[in-house]
Amino acid sequence: MQHISKYLEERRRRMLGLIPPKEPKMKKPIKKVSDKRQAQNKEYSKKSRPFWKGKGCGIKSPECTGKAEGIHHLKGKNTPALLVDERFWMAACNRCNVYVEEHPQWAYERGFKIKRNNKNTEQ
Ligand SMILES: [Zn+2]
Repeated sequence: MQHISKYLEERRRRMLGLIPPKEPKMKKPIKKVSDKRQAQNKEYSKKSRPFWKGKGCGIKSPECTGKAEGIHHLKGKNTPALLVDERFWMAACNRCNVYVEEHPQWAYERGFKIKRNNKNTEQ
């Protein structure tokens, strides 16, 4: 019965204003993809398709299939700005995209990956 008296005690103290009232539970609507992000994704696919469509893969890793299938992001795509920044795009096949992620050293040596923060990540 310990927990019940504790509850009553807490309720009494709250009514006396000794402890602040409980905050009402708020239901936060959670959108899976924000409108802003959605617009960015749309802009990205619209912009990126002509960039790689019909082109050869620019990476040519040992597993290359030759034909570009999408964008490889030299600086990654962690931020919306990087995602759509054409200066850091490269037409690449899917195999090379995966290869670069799995072989970062290989990619860095050939300039297919650019470190975002030289100070912290330079070895
Ligand atoms: Zn390739």
